[in-house]
Amino acid sequence: MPPPPPPPQLPTPPAAEAGWQVVGDKKKGKKAAKKAKEQERQHQFRARKIAARLRAPKTAAVVITLQPDAEKKGVTYRDLLAKAKEAVDLGELGITGGLRLKVTQTGARMLEIPGESSGATADALAAKLRASLNADEARVSRPVRCADLRIMGLDDSVSEEELVAAVARSGGCTTDQIRSGAIRPDQRGMHAATVCCPVTAAKTIVEGRRLLVGWVSAQVKLLEPRPLRCYRCLVGHHVSVKCASEVDRSGLCFRCCQPGHISATCCATPHCDACAATGKPADHWAGSRACVSPAKAKAAGRGRPSSAATASMATAASATAAAAAVTVAAAAAATPTPAEGRPVEEAEMECL
Ligand SMILES: [Zn+2]
Ligand SMILES: [Zn+2]
Ligand SMILES: [Zn+2]
Repeated sequence: MPPPPPPPQLPTPPAAEAGWQVVGDKKKGKKAAKKAKEQERQHQFRARKIAARLRAPKTAAVVITLQPDAEKKGVTYRDLLAKAKEAVDLGELGITGGLRLKVTQTGARMLEIPGESSGATADALAAKLRASLNADEARVSRPVRCADLRIMGLDDSVSEEELVAAVARSGGCTTDQIRSGAIRPDQRGMHAATVCCPVTAAKTIVEGRRLLVGWVSAQVKLLEPRPLRCYRCLVGHHVSVKCASEVDRSGLCFRCCQPGHISATCCATPHCDACAATGKPADHWAGSRACVSPAKAKAAGRGRPSSAATASMATAASATAAAAAVTVAAAAAATPTPAEGRPVEEAEMECL
């Protein structure tokens, strides 16, 4: 008997055919690589943006504000500055290169001392000016650049004082340089608050990723700068002294736009009177980012729409960059506490 014929061999696939599967894998691989590259690019973009915001200020400033009552009596900035020049010797303070003068949006005079380490000199200059100028005629403030941090995951017992003390301790600043918004429960039942502090402190805290408050190691998130808003009309990108609106909303709660209370104690549904008046959706805080159309925000050079609206701590921590100033707040100025969606404060605006 002849041996049985060998089983038929499957033909070897030609190289082109065999390659199809590989091409499919390659496509998948390319797609994944492209996605990873895009994610990395976005990550780097956010890191750079945070780094820019947390960069240490290159100048220190002192602001002289003429008081309205004195202005009515005929006192001018010329009088104030002449008196200041007579009373204060810059050489004694170690200021040899002169000051830079700016006029703020509210008309106040800002004296800037160059140098990242000029803070102490500016403190000394502010003290001399306060001693030499009449407090009824001029307010001397020492604004520092500030950033807003959202502190999340706090326990029920934490007070604002405790939170401020924790920020001061971790950030290496004084408690009077920090303002805390109301501590409120979040959707998960834990508590959170927005804190405004000097950028140098914000940088330290953000890079540390967590903030120890009482027993809790709380989450930290760097917030976007708040858009410039007028305190009087809650609409325009201007300060209240330049407000020409016929509507005065300065006495209203920022959360619900009703008179008689402030937003820190308000639990009502958010309602923006300014947007309601123009027929826009109004279920947000007055003067919040929801009021700002992207085009207007871009035109105003602030509050860009938010791919990097909030910088997560993870991103921030990976950014090796330095601390940043988002808003400028006059530490000495009596301003309301910050909270999410609040209009930027007059003291902050005057220093920008
Ligand atoms: Zn206005
Ligand atoms: Zn209210
Ligand atoms: Zn609105």
